Amino acid sequence: MKKALILCACSFACPSMKEINFAELAERIRLELPQDFMLIHPRLCEANGETMLADLLKNDGTVYLTAACKPEKQHKLLRDGFDKAGVEMNEKTFKPVWIQFKNTDQAFEEIKKALEELDK
Ligand code: SF4
Repeated sequence: MKKALILCACSFACPSMKEINFAELAERIRLELPQDFMLIHPRLCEANGETMLADLLKNDGTVYLTAACKPEKQHKLLRDGFDKAGVEMNEKTFKPVWIQFKNTDQAFEEIKKALEELDK
């Protein structure tokens, strides 16, 4: 199973993510957590993010762990990107993680926990 991590920074200006230092978070993830690749996008649920998902996502056994807003919201907001990529959104392809209202350490721990759950 390939693990791809997509961090959404919610424009880098959303008050709900003001306690997250994305540069520090990304480097800690790169150094400390097992994943195949990681990227940060400023607004996954808008047209540019959707286009990226449509182009990036593959049906090749990769699970896409998206760290962003509430999982229920992500299901709605990111569905079109998955649809356009032709990737069904299910527990084998999509693992949403909620990092809003967390600081950098807490967001890191949420992502770490989600990655560990994939191995169970
Ligand atoms: S997907 Fe969620 S976290 Fe990302 S920009 Fe949209 S509302 Fe914000």
